[in-house]
Amino acid sequence: MDIDGKEDSIEELKGLRITPLDDDDDDDDEEIAVDDDEDDDEEEEEAVILGFVEKPQHSWSVLRQQFPSKAGGVPAWLDAYNLPSGMSCVCDICGQPLQFVLQVYAPLVEKDSTFHRTLFVFMCLSMKCLQRDQHEQWKRHPEKQSRSVKVFRCQLPRANTFYSNEPPKGNATDKPLTPGGRAMVELIKMERLYATAMSSLAAGFILSLIGIAFLQSLCSQAPLCNWCGTWKGDKFCSSCKIARYCSQKHQAMHWHSGHKLECQQLRLSPQSSDCNACDGGITEIRAQKVASKTLWPEYEIKNEHESDYDTEMSGDDGHTNNSLVSRNRIDDSMKSLMDNFEGDADKKSWASFQERIANSPEQVLRYCRSASSKPLWPMSGGRPSKADIARCSYCGGLLCFEFQILPQLLYYFGVKDEDHSLDWATIVVYTCEASCEGIGYKEEFAWVQLSPSTNFP
Ligand SMILES: [Zn+2]
Ligand SMILES: [Zn+2]
Ligand SMILES: [Zn+2]
Ligand SMILES: [Zn+2]
Repeated sequence: MDIDGKEDSIEELKGLRITPLDDDDDDDDEEIAVDDDEDDDEEEEEAVILGFVEKPQHSWSVLRQQFPSKAGGVPAWLDAYNLPSGMSCVCDICGQPLQFVLQVYAPLVEKDSTFHRTLFVFMCLSMKCLQRDQHEQWKRHPEKQSRSVKVFRCQLPRANTFYSNEPPKGNATDKPLTPGGRAMVELIKMERLYATAMSSLAAGFILSLIGIAFLQSLCSQAPLCNWCGTWKGDKFCSSCKIARYCSQKHQAMHWHSGHKLECQQLRLSPQSSDCNACDGGITEIRAQKVASKTLWPEYEIKNEHESDYDTEMSGDDGHTNNSLVSRNRIDDSMKSLMDNFEGDADKKSWASFQERIANSPEQVLRYCRSASSKPLWPMSGGRPSKADIARCSYCGGLLCFEFQILPQLLYYFGVKDEDHSLDWATIVVYTCEASCEGIGYKEEFAWVQLSPSTNFP
């Protein structure tokens, strides 16, 4: 292999990284940051990467083969097959499927198993659940926490079955690897056959189950729910046996918002006698994958170094032009939050939080993964101590702060500022310090700080 070419492509791929590791040369001050748990003033020392949302310029730019950082819409699953399943996909409090918030592509250079690495955040749409979650997060191990906010980590080595080991070209020609493209079509047919057999209680179809397992092993992409486009669609509509769902709730929602009619048409169209027609039905329903209208609007997340923003630079340049919310509006709503604080400690904390983000008030994300980095807390109350941060439930190791989500994201998501609307002061994500290995998705830990107005209903 041409060694020069290979190195070039490694550099290109590094360009996608959100971690500040490439900048070690000009960031010597990182090393002098002192880790002192209770001292807020040390937070300034860390080199933070800020995330801003922009409308995706192309539909392909948020596809999984581009390793995007994105917010809203549907997740671009890194491992597209071994998705989180079962209780992982639902709110532990109300049992409803969680909604996709954002994902951050954050590979770690220190080992091959984290060559690709993405963190995914999901949450329940109910503010009531978030308020319950707020209390649950204080429960310490071994008590089971019932969470309405969940974070998953997925990582892949450079050589994997999902993506080429060359970096994407960054255009529409990039495709994920599809070793099981044909297997997928066969799998869909067999699963439908199986669903038919089960519904008519016909026996003897156990063989098709074995076939399904075999074909599944060849596929590189799990079929998704036709309603949310987010979670695995492993339940079928009992009438047409074509539409797939992650849950009964999403099946019901799809049924009432148009599938009732569509289902009839799918049933009337000739199926078993004409396989092209049956494939056609599948193609059709897969093409309009996401029927839900309640997903949050989709954005790409762009990164900037916080150090690039000083007071002089905070004029109208760069992403300000693409921003959908005017800076004044953000400023106003952030300031009005201030009125809700009663204690002086919270006022002081909020003021310094405000001051820190004032140079780039549209930031929705602050990323800084290093042993000494700490989140920027909007309030002094409601911060976890070290003992409140869970251990990695897979390797038992320590978790470290990796990034936090700011409430500005709610404005971009169009969440209205009403009594029972979803609201948070910050969502802080802690991940396994060792980024321990394993197939599929590992659940990490989120800490939610609510603003006082919503904290005590
Ligand atoms: Zn819930
Ligand atoms: Zn669903
Ligand atoms: Zn149907
Ligand atoms: Zn771990």
